[in-house]
Amino acid sequence: MALSEQLWGLGVVPGGVLLVHASFRAVRPVAGGPEGLIDALLTAVGPAGTLVMPSWTGDDATPFDPASTPASPDLGVVAECFRRRPGVARSSHPFAFAALGPQAQAIVDGPLPLPPHAPGSPVDRVHGHDGQVLLLGVGHDADTTLHLAELLAGVPYRVPHHVTIVRDGRPVRIEYGENDHCCAGFALADGWLRAEGLQQEGPVGHAHARLARSRDIVRLARARLAADPLVFLHPPEAGCAECDAARASVAPQSS
Ligand SMILES: [Zn+2]
Repeated sequence: MALSEQLWGLGVVPGGVLLVHASFRAVRPVAGGPEGLIDALLTAVGPAGTLVMPSWTGDDATPFDPASTPASPDLGVVAECFRRRPGVARSSHPFAFAALGPQAQAIVDGPLPLPPHAPGSPVDRVHGHDGQVLLLGVGHDADTTLHLAELLAGVPYRVPHHVTIVRDGRPVRIEYGENDHCCAGFALADGWLRAEGLQQEGPVGHAHARLARSRDIVRLARARLAADPLVFLHPPEAGCAECDAARASVAPQSS
């Protein structure tokens, strides 16, 4: 079956906004390679739809140039091929997303969001457009929409990060706190979405794919975070350095 037919079978809505996190290694082999996969995704959303992918840099020490700065190697070859494709719009800041379609500019434009996935960021715009999130051969640990949910829920943890931008012609280092951790806990979203029948799953190529509405992901995560703001962090006994750093950043409750 063609990849685009598998995507429709999964529930990708033609004409909608589709945010894709993809592992090409999991999907392959694909006729045409990563470009062939991008073609199939564009066929699935159709000419009235908008395809969106993360496109941030992994380099916090060098100013970002949307035309030339590669996507972080962590994002994989599909994200890198997509941002190079003619006509693709890309944010002008280092926490960039890339998009192609009628809503592309509206999704990627905007000032530097701090933290990176705060309201006003591209991932928030996908949420605002009632977009779908497709995890192609990756789990919710790669699901940036959950970082938006954390911020909307007011999670108390922030770990120090920095980014380098150009201001008045000179590189400037900006320090900020990010709601960051190892993200393994994001896998909890599988159970929350499955329990309500809000995640479609199936094969796309050789990959296991997950599809859910951004708004469902955010709504269910916010409800859990309201009950336990640290629900995504490993417990102290797990010995996870990243989650321990996030936990240590939380100011003790004064009582
Ligand atoms: Zn952890």
